Amino acid sequence: MKNITRNFFIGLSNNKLLNENAKRWGGCFGSSKFIAGTTIESVVETVKLLNQRGISCTLDNLGEFVVDKLEAAQAKEHILTILDVIAKHKLDCHMSVKLTQLGLDIEQKFCVDNMREIVERAKNYNIFINIDMEDHSHYVQTLKVLQVLRVDYDNIGTVVQSYLYRAENDLEHLKDVRLRIVKGAYKENEKVAYQTKKEIDRNFILLAKKRLLGDTFTSIATHDHHIINELKEFIKENNISKDRFEFQMLYGFRTEMHHELVSQGYLFCTYIPFGKDWFGYFMRRLAERPQNMNLILKDLFDKRNKVKKKSVITVAIATAILVVWRRKNKII
Ligand SMILES: Cc1cc2nc3c(=O)[nH]c(=O)nc-3n(C[C@H](O)[C@H](O)[C@H](O)COP(=O)(O)OP(=O)(O)OC[C@H]3O[C@@H](n4cnc5c(N)ncnc54)[C@H](O)[C@@H]3O)c2cc1C
Repeated sequence: MKNITRNFFIGLSNNKLLNENAKRWGGCFGSSKFIAGTTIESVVETVKLLNQRGISCTLDNLGEFVVDKLEAAQAKEHILTILDVIAKHKLDCHMSVKLTQLGLDIEQKFCVDNMREIVERAKNYNIFINIDMEDHSHYVQTLKVLQVLRVDYDNIGTVVQSYLYRAENDLEHLKDVRLRIVKGAYKENEKVAYQTKKEIDRNFILLAKKRLLGDTFTSIATHDHHIINELKEFIKENNISKDRFEFQMLYGFRTEMHHELVSQGYLFCTYIPFGKDWFGYFMRRLAERPQNMNLILKDLFDKRNKVKKKSVITVAIATAILVVWRRKNKII
């Protein structure tokens, strides 16, 4: 059942019609618990507040799978403006970008050119740029773009997903690159990825330990307290300096743990998504943890709110898709 629910929400996250419509609806459907705002102005105060509490941030200007050149160019301009805002307010903050928002599906060179402008501007401000890792169909191209940019820039890094069989091997080739280790958020088949939590977790721990013993900065990005506790032990046993790594978690998830880790002296970074293109990101969070659905229902039926028409329409569409999908897959 868990896999069925996960596949369903991953399916929704890729649905172009729902993604397009959601942009027009603005943040709704309980999404504000996980999405910090729709404009950079609305997010600056959040970042300042977290910085005051000893937490650094990474901003994600939501958007992915862009196939229109103009839209990709607009996304680039928007990211450049965000970098200006980070510098102007002297925020302790870097940026996470998705290459499919910047034209990877249109043409690799176009995407590299967009990225070059971003990384160049960021370098002038001494800001790090992280390339988020998307689904496996974009994996090789993403590493290629990174490789091209690394010839001229060192303020750029990427993500390794522990569900991929090839992750350990790739880690070897990315020794000098600042990396974020994650489990992996997409639905990948058994030809390329581990399918069970046990295998994915085991590989995560293996990758994180290898990185922690190396010299390059690593972000350990998980909400999994079992993994965090095991790694804390490892760090203590091996006398690993706390300035060589940080823990990362997503905005709105396990917030009490963010503060706990900071109070224990660990570097901590909150990943803050914002913008109008929230639907795909939000559906992937539901895929990981269907309990998050409770937040939607609370938001929908909270008596202090008027029942939100847009949210009801979304639920209706999602339910219709679920019914059709279950029939297609012969699931009752
Ligand atoms: C900062 C950050 C950046 C990311 N970047 C990428 C990326 O670029 N590419 C990519 O593919 N994926 C990315 N991800 C998503 C990642 O791949 C996982 O899909 C996501 O983090 C869920 O896995 P998990 O490690 O948190 O543990 P899970 O396997 O989801 O959870 C493990 C256990 O932790 C506990 N737990 C988890 N969440 C909660 C909660 N909210 N409340 C209470 N208990 C909880 C539960 O006991 C659960 O069983 C990123 C994640 C983070 C945190």
